[in-house]
Amino acid sequence: MKWIKIAVVGLISIPVITFVLFQIPQVQDTLFRIVAPRAMNVDFGESENLRVFVCGTASPLGNTPDRAQACIAIITPEHFYVFDAGAGSAARLLGGGLPLARLDGVFLTHFHSDHISDLPGMALNSWVLGRATPLTVFGPRGINQIIEGLNTAYHLDRSYRTAHHGADFMPLELGDLQGAHFEPGAVLELDGLKITSFMVEHNPISPAVGYRIDYRGRSVVISGDSIVSAGTFEVAQGTDLLIHDALSQDAIRPLIDTADALGRDRTAKIMRDVVDYHADVKSLEAASRQANVGQLVLYHMVPTPVNPLLLKIWNRNLADTTIMAEDNMLFELPVGNKTIRVQP
Ligand SMILES: [Zn+2]
Ligand SMILES: [Zn+2]
Repeated sequence: MKWIKIAVVGLISIPVITFVLFQIPQVQDTLFRIVAPRAMNVDFGESENLRVFVCGTASPLGNTPDRAQACIAIITPEHFYVFDAGAGSAARLLGGGLPLARLDGVFLTHFHSDHISDLPGMALNSWVLGRATPLTVFGPRGINQIIEGLNTAYHLDRSYRTAHHGADFMPLELGDLQGAHFEPGAVLELDGLKITSFMVEHNPISPAVGYRIDYRGRSVVISGDSIVSAGTFEVAQGTDLLIHDALSQDAIRPLIDTADALGRDRTAKIMRDVVDYHADVKSLEAASRQANVGQLVLYHMVPTPVNPLLLKIWNRNLADTTIMAEDNMLFELPVGNKTIRVQP
């Protein structure tokens, strides 16, 4: 009995003592000095592989605190490109310790706000961390309008930072974005990396493009926003990794019905409109199998699976092999074989 009493008292007193210690400023300072280096020194590390980092998986409707909006990063020993820059994605890149000082550029699939709104954050963070050349943003027709507008909107911010930190440390010309017109069919080839733009179907948004990335025998296709399009699957034929937007009818129908029942007519209309310009997940899996895609990965999921129940409903439609991406996932594609390693 005595030992049981001691154990109970011990179990109760540990959280009490912890709580009391946590109130002492010296203890807070000591703990902070222990955890700060870990937080500040996150390192993405080096690898010879083609790596694909998921920096955003949410679609724009609703509140998605655990997911940033559309963003995929491609990293090789020689290159670092980001595809789309949805809200919250710059923080994902920072949090993952990605080498922002050597960010080579950003490719945009189209100009919906959930694909471009964190461009200023990416420009700022990479500038702060020492990017040595202007940040180039590639995209189809319309790119120059986007870049001119953002540079105008952020000019004062950039000039304040140059004035504050010094022109040597943060030269003003590196704060601005540089637009690069990259039409469907355009190809960028650099040191073993090839990026090809292709048309997708996201009507009435036009142009809307996807990208195929090839690196030393490995390949990745990023759809951007699209229905299941024959053109995409011609491009994705036999590819190692296909990262595609997806819509679950089973998950969105109850939301539309609920909005109707509550008289939320505007919400119901928006959700009905959305159904016809994203990829139905059942057709998507069938098309991927037919195109001999190595691994299908879903991102930009409509509706975003924000809780375990929605996740279950999404999952009931999926083959065991299909992966629903989460923010911070990492896919490693070693050069020289056909394996794909997924973390976590
Ligand atoms: Zn979108
Ligand atoms: Zn879109």
